[in-house]
Amino acid sequence: MASVYEGPVQALIDELGRLPGVGPKSAQRIAFYLLKAAPEDAKRLARVIVDAKDRVSWCRRCFNISEGELCVFCRDDERDSALLAVVEEPRDIVALERTQEFRGRYHVLQGAISPIEGIGPEQLRVKELLARVRDEGVTEVILATNPNIEGEATAMYLAKLLLPAGLRVTRIASGLPVGGDLEYADEVTLGRALEGRREVDA
Ligand SMILES: [Zn+2]
Repeated sequence: MASVYEGPVQALIDELGRLPGVGPKSAQRIAFYLLKAAPEDAKRLARVIVDAKDRVSWCRRCFNISEGELCVFCRDDERDSALLAVVEEPRDIVALERTQEFRGRYHVLQGAISPIEGIGPEQLRVKELLARVRDEGVTEVILATNPNIEGEATAMYLAKLLLPAGLRVTRIASGLPVGGDLEYADEVTLGRALEGRREVDA
């Protein structure tokens, strides 16, 4: 879309257009919504973005989002350290928590292996996962990456690395919508997938 707006308006449209899932038309619509909004509403949005960026970072153990050094799940002594669910993104933790079936800990890879997008294991938190498995008394790793091509490839890659360590490696069961993301699965389906997880073979 050609730039027909002046400085700050175009800058706002450009920035909004860089957000995931926001195309040029939506960016324009949101920009004009904000320009029409009451000044305090628009300023509140700007403030919460800055505030979130300033105060929230990554948990140094599991790489979930966290306000402190450790996230809420890593700080919780009631959770079972022997059981570790590996997910792609922090939002997948939210999906698994909704099932109320899981009382172990999490590890967030911050993505999945995707040759097309140039994402290999070295861009993910794989080294950190192996260190945790070694140091934290983990006996089972549940591979809860998404049921799509990237998620499956990532699960298989991790299984090959983890199985020689002699621990139980499981994959959440099929039954989840293929090609979808965990975050879109309802909690009953996801709860069943977790319960019906199966051993991964080398
Ligand atoms: Zn954590």
